[in-house]
Amino acid sequence: MNNNGLLLIFSGPSGAGKGTVLKELLNGNDNMKLSVSATTRTPREGECHGVHYFFMTKEEFEEQIANGQMLEHAEYCGKYYGTPSSQIMDWIEEGRDVVLEIEVQGARQIKEKRPDCVSIFVLPPSLEELEKRLRYRNTEDEETIKKRLAVARQEMETARDYDYVIVNDTIERRKIDTLMKQINKIIAAEKLKVSRAKSNIERVLNND
Ligand code: 5GP
Repeated sequence: MNNNGLLLIFSGPSGAGKGTVLKELLNGNDNMKLSVSATTRTPREGECHGVHYFFMTKEEFEEQIANGQMLEHAEYCGKYYGTPSSQIMDWIEEGRDVVLEIEVQGARQIKEKRPDCVSIFVLPPSLEELEKRLRYRNTEDEETIKKRLAVARQEMETARDYDYVIVNDTIERRKIDTLMKQINKIIAAEKLKVSRAKSNIERVLNND
């Protein structure tokens, strides 16, 4: 019997570098799936519909909420973001690990619905570094950067409610490797929890 996959939540303020961490984590891991979110924000340069996000209008998004098609949703800096429910539970039952890259309000909703999820908060090394990264990225206007920095502080307060916290200080390659080792250890230990690995006990006891 297959053990269920993990539902992994990654949160962290805009600019904490979740994208880099997740790219590295998913790279070459065929058993792990990244959930593509829906949003009403406009696409950034290079972002594609269905790959980075499902971009939709406010009306389309609200219709999906009304039809119960969102596992969670939240408003962030004046735009909707949400996790489409389709596929996620199927993947988990097939034994695949599913990664959600979502902000803190959404993470709270998932924790309530699926207490067995594993939540990881990605912190930047400092507030100064966070601001530097947001400015360097050059994808947002000044007003949005200010809004995101204000929200970032509030978000980091909620890091205490997560299962794990990691600091993304990955300017050097060597540091990414260390960070990835930490994340992979979390995943390995979570899979060995008795609550998830019961089928191993049955298999050995029943001599299957
Ligand atoms: P961005 O606009 O920078 O792509 O994302 C802004 C924030 O929305 C990030 O903190 C990101 O993690 C979060 N986010 C992305 N997708 C979802 C989602 O499906 N649900 C929720 N609640 N937050 C999301």
